[in-house]
Amino acid sequence: MLRYAITTFGCQMNVHDSERMHGVLRGAGLSPVEGVAEADVVVLNTCSVREKAEQKLRSELGRLAKLKRDKPEMLVVVAGCVAQQEGEKLLKASRGVDLVVGPDNIAELPALLEELGHGSPPLSRTVFDLEAPRFLTATSLASGTVTSFVTTMKGCDERCSFCIVPYTRGPERYRSSDEIVAEIAGLCDRGVREITLLGQTVNSYKDPSGLLPRAPDADASDPDESEFAALLRAIAARVPALLRLRYTSPHPRHLTPSLIRAHAEIGILARHVHLPVQSGSDRMLKRMIRRYTRADYVARVARLREAVPGVTLSTDLIVGFPGETEADLEATLSLVEEVGFLGVFGFKYSPRPHTPALKLGDDVPEAEKSARLARVFALSESLLARHLESLVGTRQDVLVEGPAKRPLEAGGERATFTGRTARNEIVHIDDPAARGLVGEVVTVPIVRSLKHSLVAELEPALRARASERAPHQPKARSLPLVR
Ligand code: SF4
Repeated sequence: MLRYAITTFGCQMNVHDSERMHGVLRGAGLSPVEGVAEADVVVLNTCSVREKAEQKLRSELGRLAKLKRDKPEMLVVVAGCVAQQEGEKLLKASRGVDLVVGPDNIAELPALLEELGHGSPPLSRTVFDLEAPRFLTATSLASGTVTSFVTTMKGCDERCSFCIVPYTRGPERYRSSDEIVAEIAGLCDRGVREITLLGQTVNSYKDPSGLLPRAPDADASDPDESEFAALLRAIAARVPALLRLRYTSPHPRHLTPSLIRAHAEIGILARHVHLPVQSGSDRMLKRMIRRYTRADYVARVARLREAVPGVTLSTDLIVGFPGETEADLEATLSLVEEVGFLGVFGFKYSPRPHTPALKLGDDVPEAEKSARLARVFALSESLLARHLESLVGTRQDVLVEGPAKRPLEAGGERATFTGRTARNEIVHIDDPAARGLVGEVVTVPIVRSLKHSLVAELEPALRARASERAPHQPKARSLPLVR
């Protein structure tokens, strides 16, 4: 039996694609191994959203080329966004690559590997499935876990000036609502209790089957309106076992009144939204072609806060975009403070091929980009620390997800369990009895705050109930580490 290993670079979308590859390869009779040294087929699922990720790929390919000298029969597959971006060029530019396969061609992996096995020269398959989009279900790894991801759409029509995604993932294509609901129901049958809907602009969703009942206040005359609110309502109504529903990543312009109302009315919808803003400066937002102003963004957040008191927000930010001045950065910092983001995924701008921003140059020195990013992180960390401290002494509803990666106390041996509140605060329960609560939402007292999370205790009654209950037995995800 052939053995394979997958290494994943980049975003959640890629992690989910790797799960699909696991499903496809296992379905074809291959078996997974942890290390590339034992593998007959090595898949690098790549990311091209930043230059650094591409550099990592190049060094990994160099390492594999050396390994291949002693093991010439080993097949090296490059998948993901760099595969889509470079296509056949990768075969010429990189020694030792046998197969280049784009994100829409994962289902073809076994057939392509078979061709190689029959002596075919290196192959490249990077064709978008525009006519009949395929959404492979990632069935291989979800069983036994409490949280899972479900894809609702792929591609992006936005064309932000810095972003390579529309080039590597193609135009927007949506999955039918029935298929999405059925996948979620199936996952809940296997013990999943929290779903995160995935899409590049997840809230631009439109049901290709046309079966979704309209959301009560959907405004057909609003160009930003979509059927996302209707999808959320359908999931909540048709999958009663689901305890939490999240989504990522929305585009701010599709945070419409119908979606805000859905947030107010759907009990299982998380009270947290990750809403990428990218900059707090209107000048930068315009150059980035984000299609909203700072005031638009703030107004939408205010309406969301009014509808869902206590909702928390996190965001994506880019520093050092071409032409960014100190004043632009200060506008970003003031927005972080004004909105009170409790999580910031900040990045230094890096020019990407095929993007409109290339012609703007790259005029902010690297050291200055790093310094600006450090200022953004320092501010967001202080906001998070203040928020977490304010929760000490309160009681919070926590969905217990499973064992923590490591014990809470350094060097400790006590099993720690981890979960999250609906507002996305991470909560550790440093008590082995919490094993019996995995998959449940429980109310626990918060006893202290850490840098990025909270610590809760089990009260005696809950502890006794937890000790009696058969554990949910979550399995550790066998996905490779994301680089
Ligand atoms: S919305 Fe903009 S940043 Fe997000 S994937 Fe689309 S083009 Fe890229």
